[in-house]
Amino acid sequence: MAEPQDLGGLPATREPHDLVVVGAGPAGMAAAATALDGGLRVALVDAGSALGGQFWRHPPDDVRDAVPTEDLHHDLRTYRTLRATLAAHERTGRLTLLLDHHVWTTARAADGFTVHAVDRGRPPAERALVLRAPAVLVATGAYDRQLPFPGWDLPGVLTAGGLQSLLKGGGVVAGRRVVLGGTGPFLLPVAAALAARGAEVVAVCEAAAPSAWLRHPAPLLRNPAKWAEAAGYAGTLARYRIPVRTRTGIVGAEGEGRVAVVRTASLGADGAPLPGTERRIEADTVGVGWGFVPQLDLLLPLGCDLADAGDGTTAAAVDAGQRTSVPGLYAAGETCGVGGAALALSEGRVAAVSVLTDLAAPGRPGVRPLAAERRSVARHRAFARAMAQAHPVPGNWSAWLTDDTTVCRCEEVTAGAVRAAGVDGPATGHRQVKQLTRAGMGWCQGRMCGPAVHCLVADRAEPYTSAERLIATPVTLGALADSSALPAGDTPTEPT
Ligand SMILES: Cc1cc2nc3c(=O)[nH]c(=O)nc-3n(C[C@H](O)[C@H](O)[C@H](O)COP(=O)(O)OP(=O)(O)OC[C@H]3O[C@@H](n4cnc5c(N)ncnc54)[C@H](O)[C@@H]3O)c2cc1C
Repeated sequence: MAEPQDLGGLPATREPHDLVVVGAGPAGMAAAATALDGGLRVALVDAGSALGGQFWRHPPDDVRDAVPTEDLHHDLRTYRTLRATLAAHERTGRLTLLLDHHVWTTARAADGFTVHAVDRGRPPAERALVLRAPAVLVATGAYDRQLPFPGWDLPGVLTAGGLQSLLKGGGVVAGRRVVLGGTGPFLLPVAAALAARGAEVVAVCEAAAPSAWLRHPAPLLRNPAKWAEAAGYAGTLARYRIPVRTRTGIVGAEGEGRVAVVRTASLGADGAPLPGTERRIEADTVGVGWGFVPQLDLLLPLGCDLADAGDGTTAAAVDAGQRTSVPGLYAAGETCGVGGAALALSEGRVAAVSVLTDLAAPGRPGVRPLAAERRSVARHRAFARAMAQAHPVPGNWSAWLTDDTTVCRCEEVTAGAVRAAGVDGPATGHRQVKQLTRAGMGWCQGRMCGPAVHCLVADRAEPYTSAERLIATPVTLGALADSSALPAGDTPTEPT
């Protein structure tokens, strides 16, 4: 285990850590709890102001009683157990919990890694913080995949995940009359949560056909809990009379200054809207989700291998113990491919047991047997692969774009400009389109438009990988200057 380090008044935590876990969602919480139970000293860092990540997103502790959102959650028993475990370890000083801390880069160092974060818990000042440990576990989850459509930049159009975050994290119902669209089972909990909080969900437009699941009976049969979950949502949707229209896409939104009308259409087998099927629905809010993209910002600069996630994205490549190709670097949860909270929990525990093994920490009875968790990972991964195949991005979705549809909202680059660069022009990937058009060069650095630009110009068989950037979140010059104040000999190596 790590020896105490003298950091001499530097912007670093004083505790030595054996493991830094970035991300306190289901994967990170489970990993940290398992590693702590096994005897390690852990720093758990999250950009959010509460434990739980996306699945268990909560309001910050100081307003939690005033903004109750517990009714919107599932499996709170596991959350509460993990939270209690982490709190107990925090009291003993083995856990350093750093909420409101955004990690902006990680780098290899002679004796492990440095993890550079900014403390955003006391605005407006940002304070830099450097953590060092022989092992780092990245559990930074995923973010919504968006496909543009005419009008998607109107106020009132949100991501499905964004709607859910507003609800769970602040009890905010973002609209009164809502249309949801995209693909995948995630649309169902969002519809159910909105309806439970008083929104009128006018329609859920699912691009895929439910029969696609029949091609994957084995993963379905091996995951009865998923059936039960789906049945629960189906019951809720029926109770609120929410229609689910399959093979249907949201192809446009209209309004003066805000969404007023949503246009939907039936989709053909190739995903293109079928002529004559368009409907106009009055709504003030649209929520769209086309699955999720693994959050790889911290892993790419470290040079770890990637794998095709099977859903058009790439994810961290890991072995059966959640080890990446970089020694000492582990990944768990949706960083390794999208598959839901239960998978993230199992992967977190498996990763922590690997860290315990690799750092030769003595095992303790609190650590769950690895074989059962590994079986759980395999079962849930198989389900995730089936889900990806049953809910693909429609092949010809771009048929609903007009040339003047904005694709990159930060730099205001249109579909016409992207096509001119990549379909009719020389670019074969989103990085070249970026150089030619500035798509992906703005504030969000291609998080929103990158997957769409990729789908528009690249070979569809090739999964999307986000561009590598050394700084994962905008940081102030002051914080950067703080971070560089490291002692001689402790300067981190440049990211590879
Ligand atoms: C917006 C959104 C809402 C979702 N809501 C639901 C839902 O209601 N129900 C459901 O079944 N599934 C939901 N999902 C899917 C969900 O991501 C997973 O099922 C589950 O939460 C995955 O767990 P995880 O631990 O891998 O990642 P997450 O739960 O996503 O946790 C990752 C954590 O890493 C933190 N993080 C990321 N980057 C950094 C960084 N650089 N520095 C510090 N911290 C960082 C994030 O703040 C987050 O807390 C949602 C996904 C998204 C993107």
